[in-house]
Amino acid sequence: MKEYSSLSKEELIELQKKLNAEYEDAKGKGLKLNMARGLPGAEQLDMEADFFNTLNPNSNFKSDAGIDCRNYGELLGIQEARKLMADMMSISPDNVIVFGNSSLNIMYDTVCRSMILGVCGSTPWCKLDKVKFLCPVPGYDRHFAITEQFGIEMINIPMNEDGPDMDFIEEYIRDESVKGVFCVPMYSNPSGITYSDETVKRFAALKPVAKDFRVIWDNAYCVHHIKDKKDRLLNIFAEAEKNGTEDFFIEVTSTSKISFPGAGVSALAASDSNIASIKKRMSVQTIGYDKINQLRHAGYFVNADGVDAHMKKHAAILRPKFEIVLNAFEKNLGGKGIAEWTDPNGGYFISLDVLPGCAKRTVELCKNAGVTLTGAGATFPYGKDPLDRNIRIAPTFPSVDELKKAVEILCVCVELSALEKLLNK
Ligand code: PLP
Repeated sequence: MKEYSSLSKEELIELQKKLNAEYEDAKGKGLKLNMARGLPGAEQLDMEADFFNTLNPNSNFKSDAGIDCRNYGELLGIQEARKLMADMMSISPDNVIVFGNSSLNIMYDTVCRSMILGVCGSTPWCKLDKVKFLCPVPGYDRHFAITEQFGIEMINIPMNEDGPDMDFIEEYIRDESVKGVFCVPMYSNPSGITYSDETVKRFAALKPVAKDFRVIWDNAYCVHHIKDKKDRLLNIFAEAEKNGTEDFFIEVTSTSKISFPGAGVSALAASDSNIASIKKRMSVQTIGYDKINQLRHAGYFVNADGVDAHMKKHAAILRPKFEIVLNAFEKNLGGKGIAEWTDPNGGYFISLDVLPGCAKRTVELCKNAGVTLTGAGATFPYGKDPLDRNIRIAPTFPSVDELKKAVEILCVCVELSALEKLLNK
């Protein structure tokens, strides 16, 4: 296949005619397809049917230590749930707090507490003239929504194939108003890349001017492999300990895409001093999170091996869905010089880069043909993709049949927007 940039105007117009006919045909079908949401599909949720039989009422809802999980108490979570979440993050349970159903909520609270109360005795960020966060892009829109809501200035950090460009991060942390970074170090949202050993080591060696600087290490996809070839992420706390920098890291994860989104358990991992400070503040916020759900999760998954075995079942459902999208991209867009995409070994997303200036138009064309995509720009702070080229593709939620139809239309729209661009040059 010839690159589109090498075709003559006449050839481009001819192609456009053919693709317009395909597009009008698709539009006429009145489809309603959605590739915007990074949700597990119905088959994944159905798989967990026996989860609800885990709690045996005859056990009196007691934890291993004899705690009655129906009652108040155990602010940091029951021991077996702390152990389960600690296993997932490869850290000691003593450095883990189990929260409620959402890690996003932990991250929100972390930023909110820092704004209002400061970090381990520092000046509350809201009293400072300026607070800045570094945001590897493309990234997770809900991270950016948190920082935007608190008026924190966001600075784009380019993502390379092995993680954020560390040269930029090392330079920016010389500024005391830079207080944090949002990271998704494994199977990143949306690119699916995992940070290399070197990137993790460079994070661990950071020496920021601001002592209240925090890296929010959002390890949401730490066990979400979809291929036999699994990525491996170096343990941030093990590396940080070598440098005495462990206080700079707050790791979070959850079982949202392991058990149930909105009904799982989330957890935070941090250094001893961070755990002590967070515990003190939490004790005002709640008397304890949902221990019945913690007991259910610990009983169902038991340990990291249990989670791993379970994630293989998710992978068997997800792998074909990713393949449908990737094969369609290769077949329809490969070699044309109009799009690039990631082929992740895990996670929930594929990152699609179209020609600069074509992402919004592609999303609009899709919408008019009944295919909803994540809004163009969503993967950047303030919803502004400077090159207007990145689109986050979420293949997990639609059925296989829906996905096949949706991705064919998406490819037509990528081509049409590229042709519009090339013909209007
Ligand atoms: N972090 C990332 C990177 C995500 O992609 C998501 C959900 O898509 C979340 C966090 C949300 O996690 P939770 O359901 O635990 O709030």
